[in-house]
Parts: sequence; C-alpha cells; structure tokens
Amino acid sequence: MAKYTPMMEQYLKIKAEYKDAFLFFRLGDFYEMFFDDAIQASRELEITLTKRDAGKEDPIPMCGVPYHAAENYIKNLVEKGYKVAICEQVEDPKTAKGVVKREVVQLITPGTVMESAMLNERNNNYIASLSHFHDGSFVIVYCDLSTGESRIAQIASGFDRVIHEFYNQPIKEIVISSELPEELQKQLTDRLHVTLSYQDEVTFNGEYRDICENLNDERLVKAFSRILNYVQHTQKRSLDHLKQAEVLELDHFLSLDMYSKRNLELTETILRKGRHGSLLWVLDKTVTAMGSRMLKKWLERPLLDRIQIEKRLEAVEGFYQSFMERDALRDSLKSVYDLERLAGRIAFGNVNARDLIQLKKSLKRIPEIKGLLSTIDNKEIRGLATLLEYPEDLVNLLEQSIMEDPPISIKEGSIIKNGYNEQLDTYRDASRNGKKWIAELEQKEKQETNIKSLKIGYNRVFGYYIEVTKANLHLLPEGKYERKQTLTNAERFITPELKEKEQLILEAEEKSVELEYTLFTEIREQIKAQIPRIQFLADVVSKIDVLQAFATVSEVNNYHRPTFSENKLQVKNGRHPVIEQVMNDGTFVPNDIVLDDEKSILLITGPNMSGKSTYMRQLALIAIMGQIGCFVPCDEAELMIFDQIFTRIGAADDLVSGQSTFMVEMLEANHAIEHATDRSLILLDEIGRGTSTYDGMALAQAIVEYIHDHIHAKTLFSTHYHELTALEENLPRLRNIHVRAEEYEGNVVFLHQIKEGAADKSYGIHVAKLANLPDKLIGRASVILEQLENHEVKENIQESNQLSLFEEEVKPVKEKITPPLEDRKLVDAINQIDLFDMTPLEAMNELHRLQKLVKQNMISK
Ligand code: ADP
Ligand code: MG
Repeated sequence: MAKYTPMMEQYLKIKAEYKDAFLFFRLGDFYEMFFDDAIQASRELEITLTKRDAGKEDPIPMCGVPYHAAENYIKNLVEKGYKVAICEQVEDPKTAKGVVKREVVQLITPGTVMESAMLNERNNNYIASLSHFHDGSFVIVYCDLSTGESRIAQIASGFDRVIHEFYNQPIKEIVISSELPEELQKQLTDRLHVTLSYQDEVTFNGEYRDICENLNDERLVKAFSRILNYVQHTQKRSLDHLKQAEVLELDHFLSLDMYSKRNLELTETILRKGRHGSLLWVLDKTVTAMGSRMLKKWLERPLLDRIQIEKRLEAVEGFYQSFMERDALRDSLKSVYDLERLAGRIAFGNVNARDLIQLKKSLKRIPEIKGLLSTIDNKEIRGLATLLEYPEDLVNLLEQSIMEDPPISIKEGSIIKNGYNEQLDTYRDASRNGKKWIAELEQKEKQETNIKSLKIGYNRVFGYYIEVTKANLHLLPEGKYERKQTLTNAERFITPELKEKEQLILEAEEKSVELEYTLFTEIREQIKAQIPRIQFLADVVSKIDVLQAFATVSEVNNYHRPTFSENKLQVKNGRHPVIEQVMNDGTFVPNDIVLDDEKSILLITGPNMSGKSTYMRQLALIAIMGQIGCFVPCDEAELMIFDQIFTRIGAADDLVSGQSTFMVEMLEANHAIEHATDRSLILLDEIGRGTSTYDGMALAQAIVEYIHDHIHAKTLFSTHYHELTALEENLPRLRNIHVRAEEYEGNVVFLHQIKEGAADKSYGIHVAKLANLPDKLIGRASVILEQLENHEVKENIQESNQLSLFEEEVKPVKEKITPPLEDRKLVDAINQIDLFDMTPLEAMNELHRLQKLVKQNMISK
C-alpha cells in the first residue's frame, strides 16, 4: 500500500496533538485543512472543498483560506465555539532540506482571543476553569486575558450551585479536568453552551509565584494553575499582565440563582438576549468601555455589606449634587482610552506606536480628573481622587520618545522623535545630509551640462540616477557617466560619486529604521514593567465612571437615595426602572410596597395583564439597584439588604424555555425553598399553572404555607387562584393585595394600581375580548362563566381531571355540571391564553384551534 507523502506525515503528526481544533496548516500563501477538518470547515465557512493527492491511492479532502484573509475565517470559527490551531512554517523554505519544518504557534480558542476585532469592548471575555475535589467542593476561576483580571471562587458543594454561578457570565470556554464525570460535563455544555477544554496538569509553576501569592489554600492554587497551565500551553505568549487572582467570597454578595438572573433581565433580555431592554441598558451611562464592563460586574454581584453600599451611595450623592463638575468629568473621561485592554496588549506585545500615543493622551487626563474630583466636597470622592497617581515618568518617556502622529506599522520608521536617541539622530543627519548633497549635485550638473531638464531621481531597483532626455544626450561629456537604464524618451546614468553617497544614505536609512524598531520595543518593555500601575489607574477610573453613571442616571430618571434597615422594607411610589423607560411617556403608574416581620408575604391577585409580574419584578430590581449602590426609582425607599433573591415564573409565563414543564417549575420552587433564609426575597409568579387546577392550587398553597411557617423570607406570590386569598385568615403574616381593574361598559380597564385586599374576579374573558376574539365566542364564554360561578364547581370536577383540550375521550361527568366539559375547557383555554406573550401568528393559530372546537361543539349539540 502506498504511503502518505512526507508532508502529509508531518501534518498527521501535528494534527494528532490538536484533535479538538481546526488545524490551519500553512502552505505558501494559504492555510490548508485536510480530511474531516476540511469537510467541516468547508461547510462552516462556505468555502470550496477540493482534493489533494497525498501519496495514497485516493486523493484526500482539502480546503484552504488565503493567509492574509485568515483573520475573518478564524473569527467566524471561534465565534461558533470552535478552536483553531495555527501551524506555521518555522524555517525558510528556500534553505530547508526536505519538508519545511512546521509548528503550531498559537491555539486560538473562544476564551483566549485577544484581537480587538473579536472582542466586544463593553463585555469581558472570560475563560473559566472548574476544578472538583474529593470533599465534594468546587473551585471556579475566571480569567479575562484581554484585561488581565482573574477571580477565584469556592463552592462548598453542589454542582447546581456551580451552574448557577456560571450562568450569565460572559464565559466562552471552561477548562476542566478530564476526570470530571461525563454527566457533569454534559450539563456544562447543555446548560451553559460553552466550549470545554481539558487540562489535567495542575502542578504549580514557579513562574506564577507573584500572582498566586495571596492564595492560602492548596485547592485555589491548583485550580488557578489549571487555567494558567492551559493558557500558557495554548498561547505560547507572555502573560505578564495577569493580575493577582482576586478571591471572591461568594457569600459576600447577593446571590441570584440562574432563574432570577434570567427572569429579572439584569444584563440581557430573555427573548432577544440583547442589552437593550435590560436593567444594564437603563443604568449604563458610563462613558468608558472599562466603566461599562465594571458596571456589568457590579450588577452581577450586588453587595451585602451595608458599609460598602453606603460608601458607593455617598459617592453617587456627591456626583448627583455636583452637576457641573460631573459634566466636566464625563468629558474628561471620554478621552480616556481602554487602559485595561491596552495593558493586556502591551503584555502580549501587540501594541503599535499609535496605541502608545493613546496611552499618553489618556494618562495626561489624570491630573485633570483628579483636579475635578477634588473640587467636589465629598469624602468618598476625595478618597478616589487620592488614588489617582499621575504617572509622570511614564508620560515623560512617551512624550520624549514617540512621535505624535505615527504610522500603524512599527517596522517602517517615523515613530521615534528626534533628540530621543543620539545614534538615531546621527543616522538621520547622515541621510538628510546625503539628500542635501544630492540636491546640490543636481544643481551643479545642470550648470555644467547646460541641460535644464536634467534631474536626479530614485527608484528601488536602480537607486539614485541622473536622468537626461534623449534630445539632450549630445550635451553630456564623454566617459563621465555610466549608462544604467534606457527609457523611451530618456536615459538614466550613475556616477561613482553618486553611488557612494547612495550607499551612505541607504545604509543610514536602513539602520535608522532598524534602530527605531529596537528603540520602540525597548520603550514597550519599559512600559510593560509599569503595567500594574496602569491597571490600578484603570480600576480607579472605571469605578469613578460607574459612580458618575449612577448619579447621571439617577438624576435623569428621577431616582432617590435609599436608606437601609434591618427587617423592614418600605417603598413609596416605586417604579419599574425598565418598563417606565420603555413606556417613556410618563404613564407608568407608581405603587407602594411595605414588607416587614408582621407582613412578610403578599398574595397578589388581579386580572391578567394588570401588572402583577411588573410589580413583583419592580421590587427585586429596586432591591438590586440599592445593593449595587445606585439610587432607586421611587419617591422614598427604606430597603432591607437581601442575601438572596429567588424568582420563579410560572410555566405558562415562562417565555424562554417554552418547554418548561410542571416538573421543572417545582424543581425551581424547591430550589428557592431549600436555600432561602429569612433575609431573602422570593418572587413566585403564578406558579402551579402547569398542572391541573387542583394539583396546582394545592401545591401553590402548600408552598406559601411552608414559606410562611418555616422560612420567613419576604415573599411576593401572584396567583390566578382566587381560592388562595382565603389563606389570609389562617396565615397571620400573609396579606392579600390586588391590582385594581375596572369594568367600563363591559370592557376591562387596567389601572395598574395596587390595592389592599383580594381582587373580586379574574377578568379573563375581558382580556379575551380586548384581544378581539369573536363576539359570539365571548358571549358564550360569559354564559359558561356565570354558570360555573353559580355552581360549586369544586365538587363537580373529578380529582386530577386534566383539563386538556386535546383529550379525545371525555370522561363522564356528574349530571349536576351544567356546562359541558368541552365548554368549560374552552373557557379555561381562553382564560389561560397569555396574549401579550404571543406573536400575532401564534394568536391566529390559537384562535383557529378554538374556533374549530366551538364549531365541533355546535355540531355535536
Ligand atoms: P400580569 O402579570 O398581571 O399579567 P404584567 O405585569 O405582565 O401583568 O403587565 C402587563 C403590562 O401592563 C406590562 O407589560 C405593562 O405594559 C403594563 N403595566 C404593568 N404595570 C404597569 C404600571 N404600574 N403602570 C403602567 N403600565 C403597567
Ligand atoms: Mg404575569
């Protein structure tokens, strides 16, 4: 059997080491892919699949991308979650004996990309690692290579908590041990949609000593080493900018389970997955990308420590009161470049002179910012001002060395200022003098030969030459000039003396360009040593930016500073921060809320679409805003500091999963019950709708009772089961409230006002009417409803009788029930339609289905 060609052998050997990546194999001007890589890449990148003879009988699949256009293809693959191994020729093909030597120079993975084009400036890009230990604990590490930050958190037990922690973090890739049980690996990919990578080597590498210094637990060091080893293995580049790992004590922050992170739409909306429409979107009045990233981090981890919260609020207050200074500050901040990512690129060695000019310009803003802050009479803000240390030496270095308007390339000169380096100045003089000498020579030759059109020019191939038109050739003296090139109308000549000067000029230029490059890299190294200072400044500037953003948004949207108390929560005229912005016409109806130890559970009833869910989420968002140190949307707020917030949205309202079953609903309710304390906030929004009426009601009631008797968490519970309002009689700490709606000429009018007591009825049919269901259908539904309300329906429905419209066979029901089962099912179905969560098409379909049912009913009667 034929063997593969030597180059193919080389390919296969390298590919064996990078099985989970696309291997971009450099061949001349192309990166080629072979075998399955080629088949898959041609599909993903929509490029032509070809074949190549590889020595065996059959040609093998191949496809390729030109190397100069590779970045876009790589970006495309990495964004899809793939890895790409870049394999370069590492020796000159001209001098190589046999097959050119090739090596993988970099593995680009979703979590390790550094190229600005592949990063979103307002988002971090984390690579994470997960390590598990014998005692059942887990350690999570987050690392953002573009900014150099890393954070470590421990989770004592429970893989679910790991998932909740990871959820909604901007993680692209998780590095794990190959020994992590399959089942758990599957959960990571299925629930978090991340790329998994493996690194089993967790021994500590002395190189990391500095950044691990603060880790006093063996497990933390191991977990950190896992990610560092992985990054070093894949990146093969300097990681000098990595900061010391920050140990996150998760129980120092308000904890939000993944359902709450999702349902509260803190940083992205459920449906579109975008920033627009999230709380972050409302609050983000930062002016720097660094500030924006920090704001997002704060929002993801609200504080528990009252002193820290008050410190932030105090600073916000200061900025709030000083409009003029804040305005000027915002202006100054705008010209501060992304110092954090710049530091990352300096460490990676991919900055050019323009970046350094940006750095200089940003740093030069520091004294101005500091000055502005010091004029504000506020202790916290003054404190921030003192942290801003102007790195004068750095600015001076950049000022003296780098030209103001340098080119993109760092290899073609014109970067370094005159006067910075003597040798460089000498070269530049030599070349300048040489050029001057040539200009003089041109004059001299013109005079001597009397040829006015004689000129001295330069091209890359022939160097300097004297050009004389054909008509003037006879004027040249014999023997003095050496003919070099013939053009149609002219001849070009050189002289030994011109050649000599040319030599000097070119040498000086070449040397000066070379020297400039060397000087540039030296300057870059000098700055690299200052990275921690730059990072520290970046951190302080980000903080200032977030705090001024809070003040700005609070002023623009009329928020007020909250106070805090132990066990009581009282909000006057609270508003939903996002919905009021979306409505944007001042029509949002504010509502009060009071929760304390005597009144810890509110049972909310009211028609569909009246504002129950809005009211509940509004409270959670106000609490979170307070705990990140922002003012809150209301007239007055006394808040309590919640340790955890749990949100469960009933299956019927759960737009995301869509397939959310009753089981899932119960699991999630259980999650809240299991972890909540008397300092937590629980929002249960119409849970129990995923099953038959009585099951659901029974469970809902049991859950409320359990929270009331055993957990004492502050709880808002909305329900469409009116029967539950009777609970108020037995549960002393539960109160009924309802959202007011009024009937006007047979139509329902939503007032969105919260009132004490239970709602009198459910208004489901009115909502159906609003949605323009046929009059006939509505009329019929009203009749049925009346009949239902007149009869003790409870007695008549057999237990666990699932009210499904799909049931073919209707079970015999007792004589006494007046409305036939089909009708009742119809009413129930109409009742349960959540029109505002449907697309018009879905509504049409649903209507069509109901209409069919009505028609069938009529026939059967
Ligand atoms: P429910 O949960 O009772 O079915 P939602 O809370 O989903 O109702 O509210 C339905 C719609 O009513 C919201 O999308 C919003 O447009 C409007 N709404 C809710 N609360 C208010 C309010 N306080 N002021 C003005 N409009 C509101
Ligand atoms: Mg609702």
